[in-house]
Amino acid sequence: MTQHAVARLDQLDPNRPLRAQAGNEEIILIRQGDLVHAYQANCPHSGAPLEEGVICNGLLVCPWHKAAFAVDEGAVCEPPALVGLRRYRTWIKAGEIWVDDQPQVHSEPPRHSDARTFVVVGAGAAGSAAVATLLDHGFGGHLIWLDQERQPAYDRTALSKFVIAGEMPPDEVPALLEPDQLRKGHLDRRLGKVRALDAKRRQITLADGQHLHYDAALLATGGKPLRPNIPGIDLAGVMTLRSREDAACLLDAAEPGQPVVIVGDGFIGLEAAAALRSYGAQVHVVSRHEVPLVKQVGERIGRCIRALHERKGVVFHGPTEVLRVVGSERVEAVELANGERLATSLVLLGTGVKPATAFVQGVALAKDQSLPVNAELQAAEGLWAAGDIATFPLAGQPVRIEHWRLAQQHGVIAATNMLGEQRRYNDVPFFWTYQHGHTYEVLGHVRAWERIVFVGAPEQGDFVALQCVGDQVVAVVAAGYSDAMARLSQRMKRALRLDEALVLIG
Ligand SMILES: Cc1cc2nc3c(=O)[nH]c(=O)nc-3n(C[C@H](O)[C@H](O)[C@H](O)COP(=O)(O)OP(=O)(O)OC[C@H]3O[C@@H](n4cnc5c(N)ncnc54)[C@H](O)[C@@H]3O)c2cc1C
Repeated sequence: MTQHAVARLDQLDPNRPLRAQAGNEEIILIRQGDLVHAYQANCPHSGAPLEEGVICNGLLVCPWHKAAFAVDEGAVCEPPALVGLRRYRTWIKAGEIWVDDQPQVHSEPPRHSDARTFVVVGAGAAGSAAVATLLDHGFGGHLIWLDQERQPAYDRTALSKFVIAGEMPPDEVPALLEPDQLRKGHLDRRLGKVRALDAKRRQITLADGQHLHYDAALLATGGKPLRPNIPGIDLAGVMTLRSREDAACLLDAAEPGQPVVIVGDGFIGLEAAAALRSYGAQVHVVSRHEVPLVKQVGERIGRCIRALHERKGVVFHGPTEVLRVVGSERVEAVELANGERLATSLVLLGTGVKPATAFVQGVALAKDQSLPVNAELQAAEGLWAAGDIATFPLAGQPVRIEHWRLAQQHGVIAATNMLGEQRRYNDVPFFWTYQHGHTYEVLGHVRAWERIVFVGAPEQGDFVALQCVGDQVVAVVAAGYSDAMARLSQRMKRALRLDEALVLIG
């Protein structure tokens, strides 16, 4: 190990990390009073440059997806990162900051022997976050982690952005957990589809007939793509996109220059439209609305997003809907209610998901098939639910939200509660989408607002749109403005007035 003088103390702004180099290690320096901390320079989630992060309330917030780390020790406090930052020893000598070029050894919590069996069903966003949390907290019992996919625990959000654009091979989609994390504790990973879960008997039955008993279980089985009830919908070539395998099949079937019909103009449909267009396909989007995403982002931003797609060559058909899919064995065309007929050998359904809960017994499901949970994400004695399948109370209202980071936050909370804590979701839902090289971010979860106040113009580039009820900001949509959005991701945990938000945006 070698020590390096990397910067002068008076170079450090307490509100902004500074990137530096200690030997071969890329690090950031953060000043806290007379102390200086040094951490790895890139976010462990997807490599964002943390010197562009924001420091607020003792947290360093990642500029890209709002992971948050404790400034004083680098511990991860909010997903999507699931590990803390590597930390380097620092000291100050004659106004210079010195740093070791090897990270400090992280001490593990004691792992006491424990006779309990915990089962986590699902290795997506929520399940992976839960397993990481249970192992990090030193759970010493038998931890069974089930998933029906062969190589689960990968970043699903990359599928519609990069994989089907031909920019990331399906096998190279980033894994959610590091091999080191998986070696802790008594983790028993199993490939298996859950056929039944009897909440009263605390018993799980797998598709191959195996039975498992649990002391505590977490259900995190996510959503199952919906196939609308339309003639011809089951023809070969009519696909959905949820898993790595789905993405590989779609990429296999898509051909540059050939048409693809995407049904639905939600986030998945639009991301897929952008990605497949960049792959070279002729992309047609069939939608019920003239303007996409109005309910989420409002009419003005929705129009800009549609115009962006049209500039890139995506053709919208609507407002209309699919009457039937025609073909003998494989899809040959899609017929629309407005009389149009789109010839194609490939259709992608972006028509929503339903919670994957058909196997649950002994707990009443909600109308939409989700699992109602209390504020601590508990569905029944010994049973928790997280992510896309959970209807949970947010500001007193039952909601079900399909966001990656929120599913991970649920996973963390449910896991700590399985260990005996009583944590509740007390955060701001965050969602991002990437289309034609533009990232749009949404903070908050509302479907009703009285007005939207813009900083910047979405027609011209970066903007922040503050969705307001009275003088309160209830949600924010933005492109760019990553500093402001990182600050807002923390500040919106409390009520925020429009004038306060405008000051924060600067
Ligand atoms: C292509 C795509 C792109 C997305 N992009 C974004 C984005 O950019 N930003 C964002 O915020 N959100 C995005 N989302 C939404 C986000 O991925 C979901 O909200 C999130 O994955 C939900 O996490 P989850 O853990 O509830 O479910 P999932 O991540 O879906 O994980 C569920 C897991 O359970 C397994 N499973 C299901 N049933 C069973 C069973 N019976 N037995 C065993 N295993 C089972 C599944 O195989 C899966 O591995 C995207 C979704 C998709 C499909």
